[in-house]
Amino acid sequence: MRNLFALFFFFSICSCFGQHQDKVDFIQADVFIEPIPLNKEIKGGVIYRFDILQNVDSVFLDAKDMAFTKVELDGKKVDFVKTDKTISIYKKFKKDKSYKLTIEYLAKPKQTVYFLGWGDTIEGNEQIWTQGQGKYTSHWLPSFDDMNEKVEFDLFIQAGRKFDAIANGKLAVVPPQMDDKPVWLFNMEKPMSSYLLAFAIGDYSKQEIASSSGVPIENYYYPQDSTRLEPTYRYTQQIFDFLEDEIGVPYPWQNYKQIPVRDFLYAGMENTGTTIFSDGYVIDSTAFVDKNFVNINAHEMAHQWFGNLVTEKDGNHHWLHEGFATYYAYLAEKEIFGDDHFFWKLFETAKELQEISENGKGQALVDPKASSATFYEKGAWALVMLKDKVGDEAFKKGVSAYLNKHQFKNVTIDDFIKEIELASALNLDGFRAKWLLSTEFPYTDVKTFLMAKNKSIRTFFLSNHSEKDLSVWLYEKWPIEYKEALIDKFEKGIVTGGLEMILMESPYLEVRQKGLQLIQKIPINKKEAVEKLLTDKSYVTQELALYKLWSNFPESQKVYLDATKSVIGLPNKNVRLLWLLLAVATNDYEAQNTTKYFAELSGYTSPEYGWEVRMSAFQYLREIGFTDEGLLNLIYATNHHSWQFKRFARSLIDELLEDEDYKIRIQKLVGKLNEDESRYMNTKLK
Ligand SMILES: [Zn+2]
Repeated sequence: MRNLFALFFFFSICSCFGQHQDKVDFIQADVFIEPIPLNKEIKGGVIYRFDILQNVDSVFLDAKDMAFTKVELDGKKVDFVKTDKTISIYKKFKKDKSYKLTIEYLAKPKQTVYFLGWGDTIEGNEQIWTQGQGKYTSHWLPSFDDMNEKVEFDLFIQAGRKFDAIANGKLAVVPPQMDDKPVWLFNMEKPMSSYLLAFAIGDYSKQEIASSSGVPIENYYYPQDSTRLEPTYRYTQQIFDFLEDEIGVPYPWQNYKQIPVRDFLYAGMENTGTTIFSDGYVIDSTAFVDKNFVNINAHEMAHQWFGNLVTEKDGNHHWLHEGFATYYAYLAEKEIFGDDHFFWKLFETAKELQEISENGKGQALVDPKASSATFYEKGAWALVMLKDKVGDEAFKKGVSAYLNKHQFKNVTIDDFIKEIELASALNLDGFRAKWLLSTEFPYTDVKTFLMAKNKSIRTFFLSNHSEKDLSVWLYEKWPIEYKEALIDKFEKGIVTGGLEMILMESPYLEVRQKGLQLIQKIPINKKEAVEKLLTDKSYVTQELALYKLWSNFPESQKVYLDATKSVIGLPNKNVRLLWLLLAVATNDYEAQNTTKYFAELSGYTSPEYGWEVRMSAFQYLREIGFTDEGLLNLIYATNHHSWQFKRFARSLIDELLEDEDYKIRIQKLVGKLNEDESRYMNTKLK
């Protein structure tokens, strides 16, 4: 999984345990799912086949808040006991015998399955999708919260006629077009943990490509987004081919699918062969420099080996998932964007980790409660340094031995270290102590490594540049990352020396953007030069340029607004939202349209838009005043399924409640809502 705000998100680790693995082994499941969108329910059925390894009196499955309409063992009614978390089947199960368990049920998932767009009047925006990791598949299917139970799942999904259904595995039966209640059958060949089971339903088009080794790859997109297909999925096949080659073990599943969805909880999730990701990464070619999918694409793909093929025994071994996915994604980016990109990215994360460590907040990689910074970034660094220690050949040999030996099973950190020790004939106790057990970040080792490996980083540490020779080093043939690092280092001197314009006239887009960020007062003789940035090939630059020019030159506000009237910007509509705010705030700008523009801005707070769009719209309305519609949407947002957005909405509404006028208006609106909708507000308004 890749978090949107990786550094702020702390993993909740599963502390639940399944039944005794040595007594029961679940082998295969046929799952039938019929989502009922209007009630947000799942009507389902499942047939499990399992072997008994030792005599037992009962078996159980995790099943959250389900009503069971049929429970049969080998075709006959059987005794069962349900709680709000499990279903237990009672029977004298005999060693070495196999059984078939059939369960039919109705679930109303509080989490894990998300229904979007079913309550509004917009055609075609309806979606249903799942997020199993951290949220538990047992909310929609009686299954196993314990990652150690690996089952070969086949999934039948009944979806409405105008939608596509997508799930793990190979589509074995395509329903006839005119079928009133089409059923899609997805067939898996290999076992996986329940948390990796996933489906998505919605209106999609798809691009079908293949890896060099012949694995089918399907890239899904909304029908209206055909021009965004290429920039969004750029380098997909290259990443796939690179990972197969670098890891040295063939991709283990039948195919690979990538599906964007609305209001996803994270950046992406690596369900087996079926990555679901935030449609905030569906971009056009201008947005590619600002925010692209490449890293997430590679990260989730790498999990197909590290996490899905071999799965951690428990949270103590989480490094084996996130550290590895992060590391291999960085290697894939190195392949695409080059060595400098790779080493400077590592340098960035090293500085962050050193700061955390120096503040006494460092964590060990074996700590199951460690933060994302530890699991992802320190985890990736541990692998960089391990490979440096044992050499490329031994590292690669050890990794493939580890994957081959434990494929489709569960693993511990010891399993991995053992294979690297075997392959390298080295004792890794020292590595283990320094990188896995210690809470410190070994910055000195890392700095020495980076200086040895990368010329520009070495020069960065050794040279005696200052902001005074800015125009010299900015034009020297150094990688862009080096220039950016120097600008950050001399930021203060650049601002006090009034040198921002040197940056803004740079041939490098990233440098121009830094200049715009830093400048407050634009000299009149540089007005024209800055105006050129309104059409720079970056939506972040365009947004900044519009705002800075509008603030600096009131007499030209109309010109700037006219010039940027048709720009939308990033998936979060950054340019359009700023434009609407400024259009409303500009004296005499299209006075007849002010109400219309204000309504458009306020309208972007509606649940029909992604939460990133809504968040910006709320922030701007905070500046110029909320309509009742905006306030109502903010109240709805206090119960949103995305924790970042929910937290944002709650803190903004807390702030508004301190204003007496807003408080009265909010109270009135809350009075009209039902129990569910006003859950958070009721705790505030008592
Ligand atoms: Zn991940």
